[in-house]
Amino acid sequence: MEGKIAFEEHFAIPETISSAHDARYAGWFPAWPDIKRRLLDLEELRLPEMDKHGIEIVILSLHNPAVQGIPDAKLAAEVARKANDTIAEFVAKRPDRFAAFAALPMQDPDLAIAELTRCVMDLGFKGTMVNGFSQVGDPNTVVYLDDPRYLPFWEKLEQLDFPLYLHPRDPLVNREPVYDGHPWFLGSAWAFGVETAIHALRLMASGLFDRCPRLNVILGHLGEGLPYMIWRIDHRISQTPRGIPARRKMADYLGDNFYLTVSGNFRTPTLVDAIMEVGSDRIMFSVDYPFEKTVEAVKWFDELHISERDRRKIGRTNALNLFKLEGSARGASR
Ligand code: ZN
Repeated sequence: MEGKIAFEEHFAIPETISSAHDARYAGWFPAWPDIKRRLLDLEELRLPEMDKHGIEIVILSLHNPAVQGIPDAKLAAEVARKANDTIAEFVAKRPDRFAAFAALPMQDPDLAIAELTRCVMDLGFKGTMVNGFSQVGDPNTVVYLDDPRYLPFWEKLEQLDFPLYLHPRDPLVNREPVYDGHPWFLGSAWAFGVETAIHALRLMASGLFDRCPRLNVILGHLGEGLPYMIWRIDHRISQTPRGIPARRKMADYLGDNFYLTVSGNFRTPTLVDAIMEVGSDRIMFSVDYPFEKTVEAVKWFDELHISERDRRKIGRTNALNLFKLEGSARGASR
């Protein structure tokens, strides 16, 4: 399919690149030199790959954890601004092929609101990607986005009418003894998914979407397992609600306030389950470049046995609508 749009596609700047490769995996990540080269590249390697595989527009975002892992709020704000300015300058040269998500210093909600507003209003960004919890002040802290300090931030995001992509990061291992002795389950193999799923559930359960019903949050990897588990979560909460603030079922929020991408989860039965839970209007294509291979994502997606109407929606038009992108007439016709 021509004219695809992808938006879990990462880049790095020199100030953040070291956090993209966790020292715990040293020696166990043979693809790292190539991934590093591709993260630091914006156009030379990326654009030919997009052309080859029918991807018309990419929305670029910083890798994880990057800014979320910088406990000092002032430094986090400086690095976010540098990344955002770097990518804005690049996007301005190729607005027909690239757009950007803002990196935000969530360590200080006021600074995050200011940077979000600057990026969306002045630089034309399409929303923000936040890499899970933020370490704030002390490297051993974890602050999740359902914390009341973020309510003004969420209200601003709703007012701007752009989404937040909730991207995974690893849990702090000193707080997660369940991984002791099993480092192979850290990162994108498993820990990313459960960490991000519980973060999304925290947002739902907090009542955030009752207060800000027009908010849109995006989850990658076909929803981090939530479509598969959502019925049981609601079923059991209904038996033991324990004072949950949310007024609706988790499945209602998943269907009304979340979008899912297929990034890094190129598996047909899993997609079918996601479509059955949230519908094809809420699912979109993405790769997770350069951590995943574009050729694998595209070969699977282009050959999927779904209706051509759903392929167009998932591959292109859902994203055009959500991000208010124009897209070319050429991409629209094929
Ligand atoms: Zn990613």
